[in-house]
Amino acid sequence: MRLIFLGPPGAGKGTQAKLLTEKYGIPQLSTGDMLRAAKEAGTEIGLKAKAVMDAGQLVSDDIVNAIVAERIDLDDCSNGFILDGYPRTVPQAIALEKMLQDKGCPLDAVIELKVDEGALMGRIENRVAETIAAGGKVRADDMPEAFKKRLVEYREKTAPLSAHYESTGQLKTIDGMADVKAVTAEIEKTLAAL
Ligand code: AMP
Repeated sequence: MRLIFLGPPGAGKGTQAKLLTEKYGIPQLSTGDMLRAAKEAGTEIGLKAKAVMDAGQLVSDDIVNAIVAERIDLDDCSNGFILDGYPRTVPQAIALEKMLQDKGCPLDAVIELKVDEGALMGRIENRVAETIAAGGKVRADDMPEAFKKRLVEYREKTAPLSAHYESTGQLKTIDGMADVKAVTAEIEKTLAAL
């Protein structure tokens, strides 16, 4: 099963992707996690990406396309994967199509979590409060100014992907405002019907 999760920051893509990895036995590939790991490790990619990420902007297509191409070639992706946070631009979607075509393994579905944008700021404030309460480090891009920038980036560069995948017939839209379990159940129902 090869899936993409689409939706704005704070829509619950990461939470749902994690839950599905257990059910389907396939990895969650979060480009955000990969880039944060590169930042922490101080690699060349991490150093290049840091300022852009902390400001809530998108890292260049070339960098993320290369990271994903390398990652989906690993053995644990042989039965599929869930892409969380990639593609985020139409050129990334086209690059992914080419990668999958070359491997002879097409996408099964694109799951879009539809959420009311007004609720996202509240969700992210909760995530920050929970991280602080657990003694964790708050992501620089979860701070209000950077988060607002991420929403602008989403609207301008990522939202057009819905129309892109609608036109390929792969888009499945799910109400992401329901509670976590209800959203998972709806996704599972959608995937079972494929
Ligand atoms: P996320 O954890 O998915 O919210 O991603 C955190 C940040 O990593 C984003 O705000 C971007 O700066 C960067 N990032 C993650 N995935 C991508 C992508 N597919 N394209 C460009 N930048 C990305």
